[in-house]
Amino acid sequence: MFRPLLQSFGALLVLDADCRRIQATSTNLACLTGIELPENGELSLACALGKRLSQRVRRELQGQQRLPGPLAFIRPKHSSVRFQLHAYRVDEQVIVEIEPLNPLGKRRLLGTVNERLMHLAEATHQEELLDSLVNAIQQLTGHDRVSVCHFDSDWHGLIVAEALGERLPSLLGQRFPASDFPITLRRSYENHPVRLIEDVNAPPEMLMPAFSAIPLSGSFLRAPAPERQRYLKRLGVSSSLSLAMQGDTGLWGLVFCHSATPHSVEPPVRDAVRTLVQMATQRMLLLRARQEARYLQRVQDSLVLSTRARSEPQSPQRLLHEQAATWMKLFRAHGIVLWVNGGAYQAGVTPSPEAISQFVLRLERAHVHSGPWCTRELAKEPLTCSLAMPEQCGALAVPLSMNATQRAWLILFRPEQVETLYWAMQPSANPLPASIVTPSVAWYEEVVGKSEAWQRVERLAAVDLGEDLTLAISAYEISSLNMHLERERKALAEANQRLEQLAHFDPLTKVWNRYRIEEAINAELVAAKRYAAAFALLLFDVDNFKQINDSYGHSVGDDVLVALARLVESSLRGCDHLGRWGGEEFIVLATHSDVDAAVGLAERLRSLVAELHIAGLEQAVTVSIGVAVWQPGDSCKTLISRADDAMYRAKHGGRNRVEMALEPMAPTH
Ligand code: GH3
Ligand code: MG
Ligand code: MG
Repeated sequence: MFRPLLQSFGALLVLDADCRRIQATSTNLACLTGIELPENGELSLACALGKRLSQRVRRELQGQQRLPGPLAFIRPKHSSVRFQLHAYRVDEQVIVEIEPLNPLGKRRLLGTVNERLMHLAEATHQEELLDSLVNAIQQLTGHDRVSVCHFDSDWHGLIVAEALGERLPSLLGQRFPASDFPITLRRSYENHPVRLIEDVNAPPEMLMPAFSAIPLSGSFLRAPAPERQRYLKRLGVSSSLSLAMQGDTGLWGLVFCHSATPHSVEPPVRDAVRTLVQMATQRMLLLRARQEARYLQRVQDSLVLSTRARSEPQSPQRLLHEQAATWMKLFRAHGIVLWVNGGAYQAGVTPSPEAISQFVLRLERAHVHSGPWCTRELAKEPLTCSLAMPEQCGALAVPLSMNATQRAWLILFRPEQVETLYWAMQPSANPLPASIVTPSVAWYEEVVGKSEAWQRVERLAAVDLGEDLTLAISAYEISSLNMHLERERKALAEANQRLEQLAHFDPLTKVWNRYRIEEAINAELVAAKRYAAAFALLLFDVDNFKQINDSYGHSVGDDVLVALARLVESSLRGCDHLGRWGGEEFIVLATHSDVDAAVGLAERLRSLVAELHIAGLEQAVTVSIGVAVWQPGDSCKTLISRADDAMYRAKHGGRNRVEMALEPMAPTH
């Protein structure tokens, strides 16, 4: 049957839940505290500690799991030795732990602690802080070796600070394998951050009467488990005080105080050490948070520079060209790839384009969440092991969510970083010589095929960078789209203008076409009807044009038409319009014109035309003009038809003439 074993620097009492009856005591109770219990009588707490103290324990434990703090007491009848008492509940029992408090210079202790706390508070670097911590602890406890062991992500321990007694070999920078810190051991520090083993080799105390039902795993006095005893003996350690350094995500490390000989640590000293460790841990977390904040700021700054981009968007290629060197330095990378829209932009040492696209393809398939993906062993990672990326060992890939369906990637590459690890403890059964922690066979290991690890803060910074790049690239895409749209818009406007031209203008003479002038006549008819404002229509036809064509060629004929149109156009008022009615016939729409004005205009035009000179044409160009003035009841058709009649009369009248349309026939009844 398992019997709880206890260390002898304190005595332990097991009481009933009511704190009245003593059910068992440690074998050293009488010898350590002088408390003698009657052999057969009533084993009451009052009898052991006196009425007042036992009442106080009962009162303070009422409804509580443990006493709020230790109680100090003296047993005046027996001696003047002071004791400290702790009490807490376990299942149906109450455990009382009693330790003697040897007189020591409390004031001096306080002074030392305060002074050391000040030092810790002033430290500006982790190294300085931890050095200061181990030295302070060594000064307080007098252990041979005080060291800080920091756990990596695999729970291997690395000695990052130490204070040493004389002639002891340093373990600084050496590693202890994770197997030295089994999970049960690490867990126990969560509940009990301080562990004291005064003498590994001391014969343990037991409970009397043998009391097996009570679990004493929470007792400060519990003796070390056999495997822990063996381990410490292997290190040549006889006494050990260890304290947890709790980080924000779990156990950051342990402070070990080791001595080759038994070594007691008084409760006030333990408390002082604990305060120092807590203070140092807080300070260290603060320093680390500040350092991380500074790093994140530097990454941010690199983005602020690059995202001028927002107002002046740059292509991914240009962004990379400008910032790659900064980013590679910040992320300790030697290559960088920006994968956007199926294309890779690269800087530094990067894999082949085929390997990159394969890599991205696999990331797209396998890595569905939005966080970064990283490895320090590309060759061992299932996702990448079959890809040919000979110069790469580590990669950090950040997905950039460009839109609902498409992701871009920012990928940073690291080369191999051969690392030499020095192991202080090789997991082995052979005990080492029993001098304090002198591993005579410290061995080292070369770690190959791995890059430097991607730190948490680097992953955070890469996500930041990714978010900003997403914005910058989107801004660029939007601005390119806008530019494209602007070009399209211009092309459309031009096409519209051409269409307008085709729809309304005669391609040869550039004056209104038949359709447009007809539209204008209709509009004028509406206005004339509404306001009874007369207007005139002049229809003119080039005389003997066929003969000009025949004698001088069609192109001279065209020149005549163009010159005629320019001449007439330039002679009109702003409110008059010229259109080509067909072939060599034109119409002038003269607004606000009565008969006299219209005839005057027609005559002016006729004589102007007759003076027109056309290069290569040795004869005059003349026109015959028919003039019709709007009459109530006119339609476009009737108006033009009257003008046409008049024009034919002008032809028959000998050409180069103006004829007035006849009054429309009065309707016959
Ligand atoms: P009239 O004095 O009776 O008007 O005689 P004309 O020769 O002017 O009349 P006709 O209708 O016999 O001839 C018109 C000619 O105009 C026939 C046609 O080939 C020519 N023509 C029509 N459109 C164009 C054109 O755009 N360019 C050229 N060069 N000739 C044209
Ligand atoms: Mg004609
Ligand atoms: Mg003609």
